[in-house]
Amino acid sequence: MGRHHTLAGQIVVLRLGHRIPRDLRVTTHVCLTARAFGADGIIIADVVDTAFEKTILDVCKRFGGSFWIRMGEPWRQVVKEWKSQGGEIAHLTAYGVPLPQAIEVIKASPNPKLVVVGAEKVPGEMFEAATWNVAVTNQPISEVSALAMFLDRYLEGKQFSLEFENAEVKIIPSERGKKVVNLT
Ligand code: SAM
Repeated sequence: MGRHHTLAGQIVVLRLGHRIPRDLRVTTHVCLTARAFGADGIIIADVVDTAFEKTILDVCKRFGGSFWIRMGEPWRQVVKEWKSQGGEIAHLTAYGVPLPQAIEVIKASPNPKLVVVGAEKVPGEMFEAATWNVAVTNQPISEVSALAMFLDRYLEGKQFSLEFENAEVKIIPSERGKKVVNLT
């Protein structure tokens, strides 16, 4: 598959508090970041946003890979099921334990990881349900940058060598300009 499964185990992102249409752009960026960094999929809690789904499915079709989306499931149910199946939860929050301090324990555990990011205010219950509450600095930042930083430290840079199977197009790195090959 050319993905990171054997290197870091299963990673799923849970997006809480997505508001239609207000969060479309940020949730899309959370999702694209999750995909590009090798997460298996994303769950958009509580709501179904078809505009979001269309954008992501289009990117997945063109750029390949097996990234999946689930939407509309109540977040408490997702969390409960994840934990009952032996998964662990890293909730990203400015109020948590600094990433450099938290990451070694998280990396040492082989269990599937649910990485939770919020949009509007995250319910206190989520802080209790999380295995770890992790802060990417104790300053308010964007969920997109928090997720990218977390995954970078978690994967130790392995996201830079991922291959996405069944792509229609592939970007060829170049010093200038845009090189894209059509694979179909
Ligand atoms: N105002 C909301 C609150 O007080 O819960 C948070 C809004 S923030 C823009 C959206 C999400 O970004 C948060 O739920 C969290 O997942 C993430 N986030 C923001 N700052 C963070 C930080 N310093 N470390 C980790 N995650 C952070």
